[in-house]
Amino acid sequence: MFFNQFCGINNLTINFRKKRNNLRAAKTNKKYMECFNVLDKHVTYALFDSISNINAMWSNTANKIRKIVSANPNVNQAEQHFIFFILKIPLLWQSVLRYREIALPKSINKTYLQIKGLLSKEQFKHALSYLRRLTRRYKAYPHKVSIHNRSMTYDENMYRFKNDEFRFTSQISRKVFRVSLTGPWHYSVKGNLQIILDRLKRRIEIHKLIQTHVKSLPKTQVLGIDKGLATLISCSSGNEYGQNFGEIITKQVNKLAKINAKRNQMRAKGLLTSAKRYTNLRKRQKAHLQSVIDYAIYQMIEQEKPLEIVKEDQTFTKERLPKTKNRFQRRSRLLLNSWVKGLLNERLEYICDKFGIVYTDVNPAYTSQYCPYCNRKFGIRYGKHHELTYCKNCGQLNANIAAAINIKNRKNDEEINLYTPYKKVKKILDSRI
Ligand SMILES: [Zn+2]
Repeated sequence: MFFNQFCGINNLTINFRKKRNNLRAAKTNKKYMECFNVLDKHVTYALFDSISNINAMWSNTANKIRKIVSANPNVNQAEQHFIFFILKIPLLWQSVLRYREIALPKSINKTYLQIKGLLSKEQFKHALSYLRRLTRRYKAYPHKVSIHNRSMTYDENMYRFKNDEFRFTSQISRKVFRVSLTGPWHYSVKGNLQIILDRLKRRIEIHKLIQTHVKSLPKTQVLGIDKGLATLISCSSGNEYGQNFGEIITKQVNKLAKINAKRNQMRAKGLLTSAKRYTNLRKRQKAHLQSVIDYAIYQMIEQEKPLEIVKEDQTFTKERLPKTKNRFQRRSRLLLNSWVKGLLNERLEYICDKFGIVYTDVNPAYTSQYCPYCNRKFGIRYGKHHELTYCKNCGQLNANIAAAINIKNRKNDEEINLYTPYKKVKKILDSRI
């Protein structure tokens, strides 16, 4: 309810304390307690959670808009500067969205007028409407997020663990809810918990944010990596990890295709079939892939001892895997590929955090097409997985490792940043040949 109520532009500058005090003063808290059958604390915690989510949502939206604006070649420097300035000040951003002029504090107003002064009337109008359009487009809306919000915060005084039971207070005095724990690891914890009602899995989950020790390893180098499917990780040091990944995927897709074909046969005969075998296999396959990915990442970290990992911004280089036999196989591999792509990036960042390794994203454009040693353009790709290529000057090279070196170098590239548009990158690279 709070999230839906406050996630609009009128609450862009929302502040937890202020809102809480307002609610208390107006005795609205009481109303909510009765209405939802909860304790006063829950109302406050729910408000706190919603407001932190809302603030995170706005800052994510601002980041997204910055990215789009920088990549748009039709927006000039002055306009970009102006839009970025507005995004920095929530009050100002809000006034733009509401089509209202506001009185800014003196110190800000001076800079604002200066930046605005660099724009013509036309540009000013255009910049504002562009910003409004982008905000409307990239802002989250409640119907998209509401499913995540079935949780409540409980503090230390509101719950207890006893005899494999989790006990928590209710709105009725002395009445305690008891839930038996089913998870394999349970131990008593202190501090705030999130209690989540998962309707799909039909269970209550207890979530707790814990602090872990960062494992320290001797770290020695800045490492560029190229993520791929045939080979999961190619490093700028020349080593590769997860080399047989493409084969594992092919095997899995073939197996799925077999089961699917059998099902189709049975259907053709008019027999009833269930999708259970198929979905179960899929689940097992995904678990297996995740373990292979984790293993490759751990191996890479142990071997390379990276201080910092430079990687591409999410994207994969296009690569060719062996031909598929039919449409079903092609489709299921596409699905699998995009899933693997997300997972690999997610696991990389997670494991890097665990070991205290910094990671940086760089612009992915054309990293695998130019020689990192002499800047010449590569010839065609060849080899079993199209992993080899040829430079007229340097001879045969592994294209994935070359890409990893390019990725590493791109971190310190003064001309190409994360937001440089694709076409411009090509121009710059061509000029370096
Ligand atoms: Zn070369």
